[in-house]
Amino acid sequence: MPAVTQTEMMAGVLKGPLDIRVEKIPVFSISPGQILIEIKACGICGSDIRYFHGENPWALHTLGVERPNPPNIVIGHEYAGKVVRVASDRDKPLLNKNVAVVCFRTCGRCDDCKRGNDQLCKTTQHIGHGAGWGTMDYYPGAMANFCIGWGDLAFPVPDDFPMEEAAMMDVIAVGVHAARQGGVRPGADVTILGAGPIGSAIQQAAFALGARRVFISDIYDRALEIANACGATRTIHSAKEPVVGIVREETGGRGADHVFDTVGTEKTFHDSLDLLAPAGTLVNMAVHGETLSFKGTAIGSERCVKTSCNFKVDDFKLGLEWLLQGKLTVKPWITHRVSLPDLPKSIRMLEEKEKHGAFKIVVRP
Ligand SMILES: [Zn+2]
Ligand SMILES: [Zn+2]
Repeated sequence: MPAVTQTEMMAGVLKGPLDIRVEKIPVFSISPGQILIEIKACGICGSDIRYFHGENPWALHTLGVERPNPPNIVIGHEYAGKVVRVASDRDKPLLNKNVAVVCFRTCGRCDDCKRGNDQLCKTTQHIGHGAGWGTMDYYPGAMANFCIGWGDLAFPVPDDFPMEEAAMMDVIAVGVHAARQGGVRPGADVTILGAGPIGSAIQQAAFALGARRVFISDIYDRALEIANACGATRTIHSAKEPVVGIVREETGGRGADHVFDTVGTEKTFHDSLDLLAPAGTLVNMAVHGETLSFKGTAIGSERCVKTSCNFKVDDFKLGLEWLLQGKLTVKPWITHRVSLPDLPKSIRMLEEKEKHGAFKIVVRP
């Protein structure tokens, strides 16, 4: 198998803000517990666009601080592929298996990890984000022929399961975690503001947890079509229709038991509060630095406002089970398939998604 002995590979390297190049770099070496994965598919994420612009959304969301990115991050964290090398005997059964992978490893020792909030671990090693690795020539990422993973965080999928769908597991897990953070229970009415991939993942996770109805809004027609294809109860074009009015009408004035704001503007925050039924929970998925003000009565009657970060390994496992069972679908998400040399222009394409009808662009190195 020549792939395993290969020492160089092509990778999409973020040299600095607005400067991404597909170039030849050394294949990442692996240490005990790690595995090397031949990448079959890697999704371009909204956060990749933010890294491209020099932002560090992981630090902003998880640490609550602005932190600059080091040069030479190989971007890409939504990946799946075949295990071609392992560093520990324990992981030998994974060799030549197709796997879906958790793209980060938490420390297991800090106060957050010890309290079971490992999704908030500040010393997380993150694939495609440059975080937690110390100083490296190239920070590992999956927009490449090969990428690092961890044996205990890689989950085999059947040989005939499409790898581009397995690569969507990162997004699904974020949706599962959010739906659980929101406490979605059987029979619940749910409203989601923003029908991008995260919104669609929350929609499907909510149904899998037993939600009765899911209303979802966006201003992008393609996203609403996809929400419909994935089973939304009702889609709402928020530039043309009043979201709050429609949900209130559909729920007999009660509002939604769970509201997920994946947009994070002042307008969507206030709409979210207006949408909440008594004892309802609002989960804000897109925290920004602005000051938000609201009337105390907006959270009266035991209404609750919280956020959701990343996911736990358990969320990933549950989401993968649902995906393999066909309880949720990501087929309608994938609008474009491109090769690695097309990565720079594909990031631009996702930035102008309306023009290109793009929703999820998958790179197949
Ligand atoms: Zn992502
Ligand atoms: Zn930790």
